[in-house]
Amino acid sequence: MLGGYAGKILDVNLENGELKDIPLDEEVLRMYLGGKGLGLKLIYNELRDDIKPFDPDNLLVFVTGPATGAKVPTSGRYHILTSKSPLTGAVGSGNSGGKWGPFLKFAGYDAVVIRGISDKPAYLSIINGKAELVEAPDIWGMTVTAVTPELIKRTGVDPKKTSVACIGPAGENLISMACIMNDEYRTAGRTGSGAVMGSKKLKAILVSGNERPKSANSDMLVEKVAESMDLIRESPVTGPKGGLHVYGTAVLVNIVNAHGAYSSRNFQNSCFTEADEQSGERLTATYLVGTTGCWGCPIVCGRKSSVPEGPFSIRYTEGPEYETIFALGSNCGVKELDAVVKANHFCNEFGIDTISMGGTIACAMELVEKEKIPEEDLQGLNLKFGDAGAMVECVWRTAYKSGFGADLALGSRKLAEKYQAPEISINVKGMELPAYDPRPIQGIGLEYATANRGGDHVYGYTIPAEILGIPKKLDPYSIEGKPEWTIYMQDMDSAINSTVICLFTGFALGLPQYAGMLEAITGMKLDADKLLKIGERITNLERLINNRYGFDRTEDILPRRFIAEPVSKGPSKGQVSLVPEMIDRYYSLRGWVDGKPTEEKLKELGIA
Ligand code: SF4
Repeated sequence: MLGGYAGKILDVNLENGELKDIPLDEEVLRMYLGGKGLGLKLIYNELRDDIKPFDPDNLLVFVTGPATGAKVPTSGRYHILTSKSPLTGAVGSGNSGGKWGPFLKFAGYDAVVIRGISDKPAYLSIINGKAELVEAPDIWGMTVTAVTPELIKRTGVDPKKTSVACIGPAGENLISMACIMNDEYRTAGRTGSGAVMGSKKLKAILVSGNERPKSANSDMLVEKVAESMDLIRESPVTGPKGGLHVYGTAVLVNIVNAHGAYSSRNFQNSCFTEADEQSGERLTATYLVGTTGCWGCPIVCGRKSSVPEGPFSIRYTEGPEYETIFALGSNCGVKELDAVVKANHFCNEFGIDTISMGGTIACAMELVEKEKIPEEDLQGLNLKFGDAGAMVECVWRTAYKSGFGADLALGSRKLAEKYQAPEISINVKGMELPAYDPRPIQGIGLEYATANRGGDHVYGYTIPAEILGIPKKLDPYSIEGKPEWTIYMQDMDSAINSTVICLFTGFALGLPQYAGMLEAITGMKLDADKLLKIGERITNLERLINNRYGFDRTEDILPRRFIAEPVSKGPSKGQVSLVPEMIDRYYSLRGWVDGKPTEEKLKELGIA
């Protein structure tokens, strides 16, 4: 077996309670590494074109990579995939930090594949190689910070060597934007995997263990890690005095707003006058009570926060991140940072993706502004841009489908369709967009449009180059070289997400560093080109799965607002997205026709 892997997958059938160990296939690992790549391959092997999100056969896959739990920086991450997302109808995926990934591996498994639906609510425990399914109807309904310590107490394991991934009430209630949480405050967000877990009546997976797999070449690993650590420490973004550690991801608020890409009011404007009031600098000066990081992370970008008093008081929580501040703050026209901290806490407790939640509330606010929603449907909710109390109320109402929350739980696309104004939902493939207006950042617009999981920014993150000039400066307004760069970033991020290392290391590291560390861990002969090729294979496999579901070029588009409505004011005034001018070149460079990989491309990558 290659180094870095535990060597087996746990296959769990909730229908009959059967638990099986499946050995890892070395050839598959050489082609797909682990994490996102391995998860997609496992899904593809059993793919049914007509699968529905809440079918028993919709696989829910938790998967680590060779770097997870290894002695490399940011090795605390893992990936979650579902054959079909309830939010987008495409293959679902998300990524999380914390310590769940390492402890799954130390418990003896690289991945867990969940199939079927349990009769009664249950949890799965994997403790030092022994897996057990336990019926536990009494934990159904618990919030994330209630169920996590409860399961650790019940199983009697050492909390220091244990981690719990779980859903909150939103997942139980099959909310299409529900996510899976781990270590109480870490989120595998996007695409509604929490609802798939809820449909299976699986509340949680507890993992505990202490067997760290050996690396293939420990001397080489020490050398490669030292090189990477130097780069991470020296970077103005990831170093000890860097923006990520000092201000958290919210360091981006003022930077992106100054560029005219920090949208507000459901992307009707491209900057927010009150951005500074919700910036990383402001968070640090007000509600920050400490910092926190994932397993093995030298960057430590997580925030610990507390709002001591007022209507949005909260004793302790973690976050909020940049994306959350945008989604629940400026995108809803809300300037009050304490309200965002509170709403973020509710999202964590109930297990809701903050970007989709904020995007859906903002969509509802614009629907109200344009008088598309009858007063009686709102059931007393004062849904106006800038109303912080209403924004916070929307979160818990969504989790429990209470009142107008039942409409919000549909997600923005279905909500806007219900009120016959589909253009007001700002989504791609049904998923709400993140915190960068694509009109003044051409590359990120192309990433949004072509992202396999829908409105995504991190699986092809062009922002470092377009906004920060890392690793080289690209003119954000220009389309010159953008299809090439977007493809490069998508394939590189596919490889990193299969390794699995935190994407934030990309502010300091490049393919040679990732390839070097991976070679030392696994023993595979790797270099930058080989790693990029693996990434390309993974991106294409994900695309192929979506094609089998019927996705094609008609889904690789941005909302009309970004093409037809130039930015009306602020630093990026006059800009529109030029995705329609870039898409054919993107396909041609990819070897795709109308959004589908050709037979030749699939053959070249060894997929078909
Ligand atoms: S940089 Fe932040 S998100 Fe990434 S591993 Fe470190 S603490 Fe976690």
